[in-house]
Amino acid sequence: MLPTTHFIFSLLLAAGLFNHYGWLVIFVIAGGVFIDIDHYFWHIYNKKGGNFLKVYKHYKYDYAKFEMIEKIKSEIYIFHNVEFLIIVVVMSFFSAGAFMFLLGLLLHYILDFIDEARNGIDKIKSVSFFAWLVRTKNGKKAR
Ligand SMILES: [Zn+2]
Repeated sequence: MLPTTHFIFSLLLAAGLFNHYGWLVIFVIAGGVFIDIDHYFWHIYNKKGGNFLKVYKHYKYDYAKFEMIEKIKSEIYIFHNVEFLIIVVVMSFFSAGAFMFLLGLLLHYILDFIDEARNGIDKIKSVSFFAWLVRTKNGKKAR
């Protein structure tokens, strides 16, 4: 899903929570929009460098192509997995900012899920970092 869509929905959620949480809602935006930076991290890790705009266009325009989908299935995005979610859930018990981040993160995951389902793509990203690590080590595609 495009960052603009994530931003609009995160902004709406942040606006709805603003009266109760004040400027802490900035963490809703962080969790809802900026976690997609992990796509860029993956690109840098894999290609050893990268122009941000080029990476953005790569994911934006090649996303629906079959080869791209197959490629994404073998990739791991460090903020799009259950281990990261667990860390944020635990942190949210101790910090209101982390709780706001969690709300944005959950909204982001839901929007990604809807986008993938709408495009007929089933579980495109690896949901677990450790499962990805084990499967990649064994030479299989991670799911
Ligand atoms: Zn995402």
